[in-house]
Formats: sequence, C-alpha cells, structure tokens
Amino acid sequence: MLSVSEALTRVLSNFQPLDSEPIPIHSAVGRVLARPVRATLNLPPFPNSSMDGYAVRADDTRLASERVPTALTVVGDVPAGVKPTLHVRPGVAVRVMTGAHLPDGADAVVPIEATGVARSVVNGPPPAQIVIRRSVDRGAYVRFVGEDVQAGEVVMEPGKEVRAYDVGVLAAFGLTEVQVVRRPRVAVLSTGDELVEVDQAPGLGQIRDSNSHSLAALVNKYGGEPIVLGVARDRVEAVSEKLRAAVDGKTDLIVSSAGVSVGAYDVVKAAVEAEGALDFWKVSMRPGKPVAFGNFRGIPFFGLPGNPVSAIVCFELFVRPVLRVMGGRQNVSKPTVDAALTESLQSDGRESYLRAVVTKEGDRYIARSAGGQGSNILSALVNANALVIIPEGMTEVPAGSMVKAWMLDWPEEVF
Ligand code: AMP
Ligand code: MG
Repeated sequence: MLSVSEALTRVLSNFQPLDSEPIPIHSAVGRVLARPVRATLNLPPFPNSSMDGYAVRADDTRLASERVPTALTVVGDVPAGVKPTLHVRPGVAVRVMTGAHLPDGADAVVPIEATGVARSVVNGPPPAQIVIRRSVDRGAYVRFVGEDVQAGEVVMEPGKEVRAYDVGVLAAFGLTEVQVVRRPRVAVLSTGDELVEVDQAPGLGQIRDSNSHSLAALVNKYGGEPIVLGVARDRVEAVSEKLRAAVDGKTDLIVSSAGVSVGAYDVVKAAVEAEGALDFWKVSMRPGKPVAFGNFRGIPFFGLPGNPVSAIVCFELFVRPVLRVMGGRQNVSKPTVDAALTESLQSDGRESYLRAVVTKEGDRYIARSAGGQGSNILSALVNANALVIIPEGMTEVPAGSMVKAWMLDWPEEVF
C-alpha cells in the first residue's frame, strides 16, 4: 500500500498552476499574482515636504539656534497639489505643506514648530518673515523622488498572495486590476443511499449529507470555487451521471466522498474506471485508508472516504496541496510545530493524524487529544486546532514524547 508521502508525490505530479484572469484590485486580497507587478512611476514621483513648514536652503540655517534665531524672508506659499513657480534663493523661505512639491533651490524643510510661527492660520497667507530656531541638514524633511520605489522596479513577484497591505501600492501605480491565477473550480459530490439533503429530516437509517458542506467549505478555504452537485445514490449509473455533470460544468477537479471502500455498494471506483482510470485507491493512513485518485474523462478525480473526519483529513492531506498548486501558491506544506504530548496516544501502526489541541506553555508547545478519535467523531474536530502525526510503525506514543503537529488554522504562507 502507498504511504502518504508516496501518494502525495504521485498526486502532485499531475498538477500545475491554472491560467490567469484580471481582477479589480480591492477584490484581489487572498488571490495569487500571475505576473510581476512593476512600478509604473517613481514613488514619490516628485520631491516633496514631509512636514508643514518652510522650504529653505540648509546652509541658511547653519547658524540658527534658540538663542540667536536666523530670520528669513518668506516669498510665497506652496500648498499640496500645486506645481511651484517660486525659486528659493539665499536668505528666503517658501511656506510648504506636507506633500507639497519642493520649490527649486530648496534642499531642506524647517518644520513649522522650529520657526517663530506657532501655526498657520487656516486659509491665511504666509507671514512676511520667519525666524528659524534650529539648523537643519540638507535633505531634512524632504521625501526624494523614487526613495520608496523606482519606476520599472518589480515590487511584487508572481506567486505572491495579495494582502490588504498591498492594495494601496497597486492603486498608487494607477492599476485598477491585477492579473491573478484563476481559482480552481471543484465539483463536490456525495454518494450514499443513506444520505438526505441538509434541509431534509432524516428518516430511520438516514443521515444528512454533511460531507458536501464540509468539503465545499474546505474548497473555499483553500482558494477554490466549489460547485456542489449533491448526492448520488449507490448505483454506478447514478454516480456516473453526477460525474458527467461535473465534466460538463468545466471543472478543474472532482471530489467525491464515500463509496470507495470494499463494501457491496461501493460503486464509485467502478463508475470512475468505466470512463477514466484510477491511479490508486488505498493509502496507508488513519483515518481514511480508502482514498482514491485518478481521472474521469480526463478531469482529475479524488474519491475521499465517507466517514466525515476521514474525508476532511484526506482533503487536508491530498486535495489542499493540489488546490494550492493549481492556485499558483508556492508552499504546499501545512504549518507544523513540535509539541510535547501531555498524554499517551495510540495508533494501529499506520501513519495517523489525530485530532489534538495544541497550546503554548512558556516557550514550548504541548498537545493533548481533542476527544474521541473514531473517524465519525466530528465533535473532536470542532474542538481541535491541530492534527498530531503518529509516524508509520508506531502503535503507542508515550506521554512526554515530542510529536509533529499540523496547525489547522495557521496560514501556509508564513510557515
Ligand atoms: P462509505 O465510505 O460509503 O462506506 O461510508 C462510510 C461512512 O461515512 C458511513 O457511516 C456513511 O454513512 C458515512 N457517510 C458517507 N457519506 C457521508 C456524507 N456525505 N455525510 C455524512 N456521512 C457520510
Ligand atoms: Mg456508502
């Protein structure tokens, strides 16, 4: 039987980033850049003042002090947004506001606080003269052309996930849209005669189809676009019909749950093989040994186990990395910490992913079981923030052992 890492390697060899599409910049957060973003201009585009104050020649302030201030003649005013026509000659100053274009001849700004003027009167003209109470160096309070970004420079690389912090830079370059990797379209279907829709009351022996919803939510979480196809009954033709609908819906990936084991009504493998092929259908892991991968009419296909926890864990292990690759993301590894077990944990020798609660104690992480580890126990998953990995071949991990823990809610980008 394949190990988890062998299975994942085989799966990932089938995928590459999808094509790209333009998107408005304020909708781009969480999307992945398909192309480099280059600066269309210098930032700042012109030399400007970083303070409200007076543009001067730094040399003119050399002897200024609190005790012996230097007087300068004020020859005019440059509000923000105006191209200055004035020239700062020796002995003169020009009043400037924050963001105003520095007038020719000036090489520094004296903040208003360091002049004899307490503050400018709103809409008032500049004073005829100011006194300067401290010297300033050349370049003081001046923002130089291109000191932030130079025109033509690559400021964001392809593969970068756009964050809210990045949008302002795109706007400053005049970009209303950016080119991002398309979101993978993922058809989600459930199989099983016992399943009813979430808004139906289950009869005796029936349960609600929870997998469609948890898997669709996971597709969303990992940057895909779920297309929920509903429930197929446990007949080859019923499953084939749903799979064909998935193909017609121009999907990039099909994810089904249940019906891939060795039960008498496990028909999914037959339906897939009739119009496609299976690469594997078993992986040595717990929960979730029956997990199938192949293609249906050329569309990559995952058959996840029916047990709700197994379906979710297998999604995290195999489908999440695929969505990340298709979505153009660089890192497919789940963020992991080393944690000390506060209790002993059991396994059956298969590589196991146990629901756990990881907390920080001082400068180390500790892990405990989040509850029952049966593959139907969803409540333990609700309480869990991590999956603790028990390596293949181990049946008992004693309290105090160090284990690897996958942090379920930490973003992949930074770890
Ligand atoms: P199967 O893989 O078909 O043998 O199903 C394994 C277990 O998962 C059974 O207890 C099913 O009732 C349950 N199951 C299958 N599909 C779903 C689903 N969509 N939602 C919730 N439970 C499911
Ligand atoms: Mg079944």
